[in-house]
Amino acid sequence: MYQEIHTENIAARAHAPEVAELLRHFTASAEGQAGVPYEAFRDEVMPVFGPDLMVLAPTGDGDYAYVHYGREIIRYVGGDRLGESVSTMTPQLARFTIACCDRALADGVPRYTVHRSLKTVRVCLWERLIMPATARDGSRFLIVFSQPLQFREELLTTVLDTSPSGIVALRAIRDDAGNIERTVIITANRRAAAIAGREGEDLLDGDPQESLPFLADAMVWRRCLYAIELRRADMIETSFASGTRTVWLQIAVAPLGDGLVLTITDVSDLTAANQTLQSRAATLALEIGRERATRRALSQEIGQREEREQELRRLAETDPLTALLNRRSFTEKANTAIAACQESQAERSLIVVDLDHFKSVNDNHGHPAGDAVIRAFADLLLGLVRTDRDLVGRFGGEEFAIFLPRADLAIAQRTAERIQEMLSARRLPVSETLSLQVSASFGIATHLSGESLPAFIERADRALYRAKNDGRGCIRVAEGRISAAA
Ligand code: GH3
Ligand code: MG
Ligand code: MG
Repeated sequence: MYQEIHTENIAARAHAPEVAELLRHFTASAEGQAGVPYEAFRDEVMPVFGPDLMVLAPTGDGDYAYVHYGREIIRYVGGDRLGESVSTMTPQLARFTIACCDRALADGVPRYTVHRSLKTVRVCLWERLIMPATARDGSRFLIVFSQPLQFREELLTTVLDTSPSGIVALRAIRDDAGNIERTVIITANRRAAAIAGREGEDLLDGDPQESLPFLADAMVWRRCLYAIELRRADMIETSFASGTRTVWLQIAVAPLGDGLVLTITDVSDLTAANQTLQSRAATLALEIGRERATRRALSQEIGQREEREQELRRLAETDPLTALLNRRSFTEKANTAIAACQESQAERSLIVVDLDHFKSVNDNHGHPAGDAVIRAFADLLLGLVRTDRDLVGRFGGEEFAIFLPRADLAIAQRTAERIQEMLSARRLPVSETLSLQVSASFGIATHLSGESLPAFIERADRALYRAKNDGRGCIRVAEGRISAAA
């Protein structure tokens, strides 16, 4: 229980002016520890302050009895306690009152107290001035001024008037059959009037649907009536036009007696902010969509460019007539392959092939026929080697090179023999009506460790030269390292 007890600065602390006045009377006639002479003091103050005074007498068993109970106090408390003892009050309040009285009697000093009301409905805080007195026969008394310091209504009014929400209480008026005939506003705070666009007007006793535009909406009003009939809380969201703007409201509906309390919150700013956010989110989504499309187009463009670059690279690497590697890219790739092979210790070989008496093909059948033979021979070579690792290149004219990165001399020789066999077994197609039998000469070399590619090719070329010299259509193997003299 909230409580205060003071012996100092009482006049300044007290709310009721009577407290200071009584204190002056008390001080004027106080006689030390005895307090004031009871009979004289009572006769002096009772005529003026009587309605707000109560007089307590100790009962000798640690309790006090009321020997006077003022009219005003009866009014606030709602009953007369004359003759009753303090201990019949709420235990907390009884303990507090008895303790204050005991102390005042002990030292003869008045006590100013404030305490929270526990039972009295209307009063929130009480203030008291407890003054000790001694009667002529030596019996003790306490003359107590007691007045409400704060009423609950004041508290409620303050809460209502300062609330950021509009608060309206309605009461249903029913006909004899018990049906709601009409409703009336029994409470409305300032904010409710402001929200309704009736700033400063008193809405009390009015028809809620006439006074509050948002209740004119049939759906909202129906829900209010349901809430009254079913005694059920509800939460309604609605809007209404106020001048040029739309006011958005959130209305909490709670049943109260045979009526309702509406707590109205203006959520217009919130709703507007929400709408702005939603439209911004939509714009953003649109922008994101656009950006995605742009990115997709860009990546397509990049993809196409990469494809074109790849095609260009492929064209730069290949011989246009046969689609074999040209001499430059054959050399590059062979160099890379040799570097890789050297670490793995695997043997690698090179075959150079030159078609025999090719000049006569051109001479006898024409240049295009010669081209067709070159193409057909290139196809034959591609069909014989593993293109995933072996390199086949056209060195120029009717001369070709095959690099076998994992082939010793025996394998290279067998490869050359197979080419030879295929050439002798079938004629190369030149046109739909013409095919030609051609032969070729082969030079084979196996790579010597540390040997450069040009030296390697040179040795294979020399072997080819020997094959030509030895009558063509045959395979010759290169000698070892070319000596300086050779
Ligand atoms: P050998 O047996 O000594 O190799 O005799 P060959 O006639 O094959 O050799 P030679 O080097 O004397 O002649 C090669 C010919 O190949 C000459 C050239 O006209 C022809 N030639 C070179 N490139 C092409 C080409 O791309 N297409 C055609 N149709 N002929 C080509
Ligand atoms: Mg030739
Ligand atoms: Mg040649």
